[in-house]
Amino acid sequence: MNDSVLIVGGGQAGAQAALSLRQGGFAGALTILGDEPYVPYERPPLSKSFLAGDVTEERMFMRPEAFYAEKTITLRRGRAVSIARGQHRLHLENGEHLAYGTLILATGGRVRHLNCPGADLAGVHYLRTIDDVLGFKNRLQAGARVVIVGGGYIGLETAAVAVKRGCKVIVLEMQPRVLARVVAPEMSAFYTRVHREAGVDVRIGAVVTGFGGTGKVEHVICGDEIIPADVVIVGIGIVPNAELADDAGLDVDDGIVVDENARTSDRDIFAAGDCTRQFNTIAGESIRLESVPNALAQGKAAALTILGKPVPPVEVPWFWSDQYDLKLQMAGLAKPGDAVVIRGDEATRRFSACYLRDGVFVACHAVNMAKDFLQSKKLIADRARPDLARLGDPALALKDL
Ligand SMILES: Cc1cc2nc3c(=O)[nH]c(=O)nc-3n(C[C@H](O)[C@H](O)[C@H](O)COP(=O)(O)OP(=O)(O)OC[C@H]3O[C@@H](n4cnc5c(N)ncnc54)[C@H](O)[C@@H]3O)c2cc1C
Repeated sequence: MNDSVLIVGGGQAGAQAALSLRQGGFAGALTILGDEPYVPYERPPLSKSFLAGDVTEERMFMRPEAFYAEKTITLRRGRAVSIARGQHRLHLENGEHLAYGTLILATGGRVRHLNCPGADLAGVHYLRTIDDVLGFKNRLQAGARVVIVGGGYIGLETAAVAVKRGCKVIVLEMQPRVLARVVAPEMSAFYTRVHREAGVDVRIGAVVTGFGGTGKVEHVICGDEIIPADVVIVGIGIVPNAELADDAGLDVDDGIVVDENARTSDRDIFAAGDCTRQFNTIAGESIRLESVPNALAQGKAAALTILGKPVPPVEVPWFWSDQYDLKLQMAGLAKPGDAVVIRGDEATRRFSACYLRDGVFVACHAVNMAKDFLQSKKLIADRARPDLARLGDPALALKDL
């Protein structure tokens, strides 16, 4: 077993790796180097309960600060800039270096920025960190004109919170439908309707070409239209933080390439979470997942491998999104072109969309239907080929198909 483990990145993947190492009996020096001014925290509430003001920062912390001291996990603030693999050293921005026996890269992702004119005006915000949210949360006051660029999960969750706070919310989505990359047209139509009914002005096929204002953003330019705005929030995806690995000569392909044990192309370097790309045996292809379950599973996998213990097989990818009273839970990975069978009635706000590819059950998106979500995981893992008529009958449990 290596005598010291150094983890770069204090997000959920990095923290989970440290916790699993100590849980598994790792007794060597253990350090998490992170560049945010907080102990490792969970990001999902950022666009949900934290933005809504329902939970405090502390409630998002994975563990209180004292816990890390108890477990002799050193939390160190700093930014890594390069890896000297030959010397097993990590170089920091402040000129210091740290030695490692084993290195775990858990550097996550950073928001994709718009680079149109005016994008750097004050009042144009992004949403990835606690500090990002603190930068605009208090501006979501009743009557504020909020323009959200991007109709993905983060944009729509933010819209749901803002409209509930009495803001006048416009969502601008350049694709022909919201959530276009990840859900079936039926699901996009449902969420568009729900948002519109709640008072959000959802515009599709809306391409933002610039922002204007004196000193701060005052309007958004979208096609021929000038849309007045007090606050703009941009949610157009993330870019994996893979430069450290790339510069060090590790295999990188839109994400740090790792094997089933979260190991990179260097035996002494692991990677976990949003920064990675891994072959997923269930999806049958190499994928980059941006989700908490993946970050936790890969953090654990790295720890188990370092401990010399077997790593469980990859689980069916899953994810969730909370908007209004709707809990959307997703298992598997749907793709455009998959056949879709709807179970239940959208009007009741309880239904699920099951996705089939060449007759094989590949994904399920369940709205307020936790049972379908949970039971679908086994069908996906088993590559089940359910009978379509039976699948469409919500009275039949998925597990019985
Ligand atoms: C608003 C929001 C809502 C979300 N909602 C959901 C949800 O509902 N369900 C779900 O499953 N997932 C959700 N996600 C995604 C989920 O939060 C991420 O998949 C998860 O946080 C990834 O964890 P990670 O540890 O890989 O990366 P990160 O959380 O990005 O952590 C990486 C850390 O490393 C630091 N770092 C990077 N480079 C360096 C360096 N060179 N030196 C030092 N430190 C460095 C970063 O600053 C960061 O603190 C959401 C994400 C956001 C932003």
